[in-house]
Amino acid sequence: MAEKFGTPTYVYSAGTIVDHYARLDAALAPLDHLICYAVKANSNRAILKLLADAGAGFDIVSGGELFRVLAAGGDPAKCTFTGVGKSREEIEYALEQGVYSFNVESESELENIDRIAGAKNLRAPIALRVNPDIDPHTHEYISTGSHENKFGIALDRIAAVYESAAKMRNIDIVGVQMHIGSQITEAQPFASAIWKLAPIVRELKSKYAIKFFSIGGGMGIIYRRALESGSGKWWHDHGGESSVFSIRDYADAIVPPSRQLGIGIVVEPGRFLVGNAGVLLTRVGYIKKSGAKKFAIVDAGMNDLIRPALYHSYHEIVPVKETKSERERKISKIDIVGPVCESGDFFALDREMPKLDEGDLLAIMSGGAYGFVMASNYNSRPLPAEGLVRGDKFALIRKRQTWKDLVRGEIEPL
Ligand SMILES: *Cc1c(COP(=O)(O)O)cnc(C)c1O
Repeated sequence: MAEKFGTPTYVYSAGTIVDHYARLDAALAPLDHLICYAVKANSNRAILKLLADAGAGFDIVSGGELFRVLAAGGDPAKCTFTGVGKSREEIEYALEQGVYSFNVESESELENIDRIAGAKNLRAPIALRVNPDIDPHTHEYISTGSHENKFGIALDRIAAVYESAAKMRNIDIVGVQMHIGSQITEAQPFASAIWKLAPIVRELKSKYAIKFFSIGGGMGIIYRRALESGSGKWWHDHGGESSVFSIRDYADAIVPPSRQLGIGIVVEPGRFLVGNAGVLLTRVGYIKKSGAKKFAIVDAGMNDLIRPALYHSYHEIVPVKETKSERERKISKIDIVGPVCESGDFFALDREMPKLDEGDLLAIMSGGAYGFVMASNYNSRPLPAEGLVRGDKFALIRKRQTWKDLVRGEIEPL
C-alpha cells in the first residue's frame, strides 16, 4: 500500500473491525443491547459502512457525523446524539432524521431542544447524561465522569431535571446515559458506575417510560507490547501492572449489574472497535545525529497523528520489513520525530529500536482510533491517505490531499 499510495497513509483492517464488533455483540448477548459505535474515533465512510452492515448503531457528536452515518447507509433510528454544545441547526437535522435519542448534557440544552422540536411540530426523544462522579483512572484530558469536568448533569440534580423534562411539551423521556472517560483499561470502574447509578435508573424507570440505559464507551486498548521477555504478556499504556483488558473482562463486569435493571443497554465503544485495527505507515526520510542523540525524521507528523503530542501517549513502532537479518540489527535508542516545526512533533522519545536507515518503512501501531480524525493541515501539510485491507485485497478509502486542496475554499478579499 505504501508503494501504491505513498506515505504517510493510514491502513485499517476490515476483518479486525468486524471481528471486534461481532465478539462484543456476542459477549453482550445476555442483555437486550445496542452497540452504538462512537463515530468520532474514526469516521471514514468505509469504516461506518462495515459497522452499519454488521448491525451497529452509532453515537454521534455533531451534525456532520450524522451526515456521514447516513451517507454510509447507517440507520438514524439507531443513533444517539451526544455533546455539550449541540447547535440549533444540528438539533433540527437530528429531529428531521429521527435519531434514537438526544443525550442531553444540561438543563438549558433540554429547554432548547424542547423549543426547537415545538417549532418543527416534532417530538424529541431524550436521555439525560448523568455524571456518576467516579474516577476511571485514566488521563485527565479523557476522563469525563467526575464532577469537575464539563460533561453531564450532576447526580444531585438528576431527579429535578427529569421532572422538568417530563413537563416539557415536546420532549419524550426515553433513557438514561453516562460515560465515564476513555482508555479505561480495568473493568472495575465500569461496573462501579453501573452499580452506583442502578438505584437511580430503577427509580426513574418507575416514573417515566425509560427504554434504555446507555453505559457509554471508554473501553481501553493495549498500546504497549510486552517488554517482559518470554512472558507473552502485553502491557497497557499507563501504569505499571500487566493486566490485559479484553472484551470478555468487560462483558463479565457489566452484564451482571446491567441485567438486573430489566431495560435495554446501550454501549458506545469507539477506540475498542477500531484502535488496534489500524496503523499509520510512514517512511524514514533522514537519520540525524546531534551530540549523543539520534533522530529518525519520518514523513508523518503531529498533524497526521497528534496523540503522542496531545496525551503523551505511547505507540508501538515497528519496521514493516522484518527479515531475520534485520531483526538481528543492533538495538539502540532513537527519537522518532516528524517534520513539523514544533518540539512536540514526536512519535517516540529514546525508543529502543533496531538500527534504522533512510528509506525504511515504519508502522506506527494502534492508529485506528483518534488518528486520522484528529489530523490537521498544520504547516500546510495535506491530510494523509487512508486505505482498507479486506482479506487479500486492499483499497484506498480516502485520497491523499493535494496542495491544491489546501487553498480550495480560500477567498481573495475585495
Ligand atoms: C468519546 C465518547 C465515546 C467513545 O469513547 P471511546 O473511548 O473511544 O470508547 C462514547 N460515548 C461518549 C459520550 C463519548 O463522548
